[in-house]
Amino acid sequence: MKMIFLGPPGAGKGTLAVKAVEILEVPQISTGGIFRAAVAVQSPLGLKVKEIMDAGKLVDDDTTIALVKERLAQDDVKKGYILDGFPRTIPQAEALATFSNVEKVINFDIPDEGVIERLGGRRVCRKCGFNFHAKFTPTSKEGICDHCGGEVYIRDDDRPEAIKKRLEVYRAQTAPLIDYYRNKGLLLDIDARPMIDEIVVNFKKAMGL
Ligand code: AMP
Repeated sequence: MKMIFLGPPGAGKGTLAVKAVEILEVPQISTGGIFRAAVAVQSPLGLKVKEIMDAGKLVDDDTTIALVKERLAQDDVKKGYILDGFPRTIPQAEALATFSNVEKVINFDIPDEGVIERLGGRRVCRKCGFNFHAKFTPTSKEGICDHCGGEVYIRDDDRPEAIKKRLEVYRAQTAPLIDYYRNKGLLLDIDARPMIDEIVVNFKKAMGL
């Protein structure tokens, strides 16, 4: 299954993707995750994108498309993939259509208040990337990942000014993809307001699993 997880930041795309990878047995490809890894090792790509990410803006289409095109040429995605955080603009979606045939797009439906609450409390493992929430799903030990023992931190772009900017960017540049994919008959809406276990149930129902 070749699919896209579409939705605002903090909608739970990454969290559901971790579960969906097990259900569908296809890899998750997170462009944000790839950029964060590049920032962590200070590669040329990381140096180029750090400021853009910290400000809550989008990395340019050419850079992002080239990255995804290269990733989708690898063997492990032959059976399918979950694109988490890509495409985020119409030009990205149009480019994607030239090198891969997406079968389903999951639209994570959540109002801004839900996003602000989720992102404000989000904590991420620096080592394995697992997401926690300070209030809803805290780590057992403060600052330590329950899964791998890595350090748990607050993403630079989860600060209030960056959250505001990311929501603006989402509404202006990414939300038009909802109609773009709905018109192609690929869109499945899921209610992304509840806690993750319920979102998994909603996802399976939408997928007919
Ligand atoms: P995410 O982890 O998906 O919230 O992505 C974090 C940041 O990485 C975004 O705020 C952007 O700066 C950048 N990014 C991730 N995916 C894309 C994309 N498809 N296009 C442009 N920038 C992206």
